[in-house]
Amino acid sequence: MDTSGLLSLEQALQKMQAQVSPLTAAETVALSQAAGRITAVPVTSPVNVPPFDNSAMDGYAIRHSDWRGEPMPVAGKAFAGIPFAGEWPVGTCIRIMTGAPIPPGADAVVMQEHTAADSNGHIRITHEVKPGQNIRRLGEDIQQGAQVFPAGVRLGSAELPLLASLGLAQLAVIRRLRVALFSTGDELQVVGEPLQDGQIYDTNRFAIRLMLSQLGYEVVDLGIVRDDPTALRQAFKDAAAVADVVISTGGVSVGEADYTKQMLDELGDIHFWKLAIKPGKPFAFGKLQNAWFCGLPGNPVSAVVTFYQLVQPLLSSLAGDTHWRLPPRIRVKTATPLKKSPGRLDFQRGIVSRNADGDLEVRTTGHQGSHIFSSFSLGNCFIVLEAERGPVAAGEWVEIEPFNLLLSHP
Ligand code: AMP
Ligand code: MG
Repeated sequence: MDTSGLLSLEQALQKMQAQVSPLTAAETVALSQAAGRITAVPVTSPVNVPPFDNSAMDGYAIRHSDWRGEPMPVAGKAFAGIPFAGEWPVGTCIRIMTGAPIPPGADAVVMQEHTAADSNGHIRITHEVKPGQNIRRLGEDIQQGAQVFPAGVRLGSAELPLLASLGLAQLAVIRRLRVALFSTGDELQVVGEPLQDGQIYDTNRFAIRLMLSQLGYEVVDLGIVRDDPTALRQAFKDAAAVADVVISTGGVSVGEADYTKQMLDELGDIHFWKLAIKPGKPFAFGKLQNAWFCGLPGNPVSAVVTFYQLVQPLLSSLAGDTHWRLPPRIRVKTATPLKKSPGRLDFQRGIVSRNADGDLEVRTTGHQGSHIFSSFSLGNCFIVLEAERGPVAAGEWVEIEPFNLLLSHP
């Protein structure tokens, strides 16, 4: 296959990244509304975590210098949320529970299992004691004023509870990226309506809309647009007027591209690329008046793969998510042969699992046609086959890329 006129995935990604710059407008949101949002400025801690020295164990707080190896009477109690408040006589200990503030002057906590109570209730320590043991120190996790996250971090289950532990009720995040989408095709029918002769259901809009909302973007769904210049022109104009990014599917393959191109030339500066990737050869990218435009291929597998590999990184950059990346690729052996002809970087769908020897191996999901959408639900990874590679025999090494949250399933 002649691939001389084709753009590699890296070239396409670079061309896109070179043109766009991230959103900067920020807004303040409540912590409870911040899931999926991206920090607009570095977050610093208003408090120390822990906010006070506290016990890591249930046991007894002692003054190490004060301990002579003799059993000690218990002078009082310290619970989580209820500090010890009384006098602390020399030669005594204080009963303390996990999370309770360390009584002033105490410098070690002896865990309960390292003590025994005498018949008169005095506490005998049965193990060696090191000064400072079992005390969680003020600021040991996070110091007041320290940077917790830089700007450009997407907030999820790893980040938001941490911010809650700092007592941050609200924070500054970048405004949400707004993405408009529509699908094109005279053959498309909406879900819920019966299929007429020659019609198929609109898979792509459903797929892209779902992935966009999983990524936390605001979605403007403009429905199905017919293959008609007037309707298409209006759709592009409407979409560009309301969104930061416009995504369409279909109409970029050979033949169709000619007239889409003609029309888009009036509306902006769009480039029609032939990518050296499979599935997903045709792809359009450029600028409409006030919005970026991505034109995805019509075949559903191609639409999803190009969205995933090209548009997802672009949107992350635009949204200000500077830490975004795809899961790292891993080298494993394939347990099944893989059909491949040299020419394009191939994103086949595979199932990675552990074999009887405990090693990771991958199998094909089967038919790799760009209309076989079930390959995504059967699979859990891409098998990424280099452009120049030919057919792959069972037992050969290949690279896989585990699906991220957009395609993964339990
Ligand atoms: P196109 O790129 O418009 O030439 O479409 C390529 C193939 O994908 C054709 O078989 C179309 O019927 C199919 N196709 C296009 N758009 C969609 C869609 N939204 N959902 C499902 N299939 C589609
Ligand atoms: Mg079409």
